[in-house]
Amino acid sequence: MNPTLTSSTDTIAAPASPAGAGAVALLRVSGPDAARIAGEVFRGPALQPRRATFGSLTGEDGSVIDQVLVTFFKGPASFTGEDTAEIACHGGTLVTRRVLERLLQAGARAAEPGEFTRRAFLNSKVDLTQAEAVMDLITAQTDLALRAANRQLAGALGAAIHLLLADLLGLLAHVEAHIDFPEEDIDPDTGAALLAKVDALVSRVDALLATAGQGKILREGLRTVIAGRPNAGKSSLLNRLLGFERAIVSETPGTTRDTIEEVISLRGFPVRLVDTAGLRGDTEDGVEREGISRTGRELRAADLILEVVDASCPDAGRLDPAEEGGAARVLVLNKSDRPHHADWLAAGGVPISCTDGSGMEALADAIIAVITRGGGGLQGAEVAVNARHQACLERARAALLGARAEFVSGSSPEFTALDLRLALEALGEVVGRVDVEDLLGVVFSQFCIGK
Ligand code: GDP
Ligand code: MG
Repeated sequence: MNPTLTSSTDTIAAPASPAGAGAVALLRVSGPDAARIAGEVFRGPALQPRRATFGSLTGEDGSVIDQVLVTFFKGPASFTGEDTAEIACHGGTLVTRRVLERLLQAGARAAEPGEFTRRAFLNSKVDLTQAEAVMDLITAQTDLALRAANRQLAGALGAAIHLLLADLLGLLAHVEAHIDFPEEDIDPDTGAALLAKVDALVSRVDALLATAGQGKILREGLRTVIAGRPNAGKSSLLNRLLGFERAIVSETPGTTRDTIEEVISLRGFPVRLVDTAGLRGDTEDGVEREGISRTGRELRAADLILEVVDASCPDAGRLDPAEEGGAARVLVLNKSDRPHHADWLAAGGVPISCTDGSGMEALADAIIAVITRGGGGLQGAEVAVNARHQACLERARAALLGARAEFVSGSSPEFTALDLRLALEALGEVVGRVDVEDLLGVVFSQFCIGK
């Protein structure tokens, strides 16, 4: 990233703490004028970098607006990389507004949403994955989601991508050197060695892609639809699960919906429970039919379907798999406090009772198994990619396979190089902008070709 392209000419200001009354509010000022503006609005001892200094925030006429604590950060040693002042004032709505107005009056511009983090990115203080992690951290609903966000913020995903970029770049440099200087005595890295390297890169991309499912669950929750016939005990199960694991979000508002959504933390994973209207295929009632068609939509959007049946009664018909969109399914044999009907003896579901609470641990195990299937479980994974990363990685993968196919087909090395460049660009997008020419220049400078 080229700092001359991105250095800001204006100075921005905004409250960094949420609106409303609190003990303290924090405002941030960032940009080339931050030191001058802080000096102008603050009356107290001289500000020194990274030292909180107590004094008064004063109006243009010298009147005191509030007593404040100001901390000045000299760029580039600040969050944004620019000169930054942080002003802690008393946390009142009016006080905060007056302090902000004073900062604007002194020459700052009101910051746009995300602009501080944007500047941090443009000044190479964080890469794109870290900027995204700030948001993940703020919105994390469970401890595991928090941990994943922290790892990403610490640069774990960025580091994995940069390692991939470096290896891919080395490969491209060799192929391009072969194109540009076929007469030079450079190892063109052809044949099996090149294919093995491409394959190794593809499997590293695949390993990152394999975390996408868990990344989605950590950020959005496992969408778990509780479905089944009326009176099977669906609503009872929702209540049981809410009581079993602490609910972390209250009922989703919206009176027009007949489904209820709650998010619980199941052993650290956010699980979004959706209680639905009972499914009955034979109803003549229009309102009920509408409810059922909504249930159908929920089933198609689900990650997991908990199919609840009253196991003390005969099998009155199961969910139609045609209704579903490929979600995992767990059969829940409810009302196991009563004897099971013979129809369910070989059904292979999880027996529970919402009345006495038995079987809830086994049901939690079954849900966690769905979350962690196909890959060691998130606890072990260093990173979990989001949908944007996934799209970039998929493009990189396709380009790598394209490069491989070009090479195997024996076509001219230009085509292989072109696909490798596409892969580099797609991978580079995960962390931000990557200038392939600049990077190649660095590699070639170590090659000593052309003299
Ligand atoms: P829904 O229509 O599927 O949402 O079912 P409800 O949760 O409203 O429950 C229907 C009826 O079954 C209620 O009378 C519940 O008290 C009862 N019920 C739910 N779970 C159990 C259970 O585990 N054992 C027994 N004996 N009754 C249950
Ligand atoms: Mg119900």
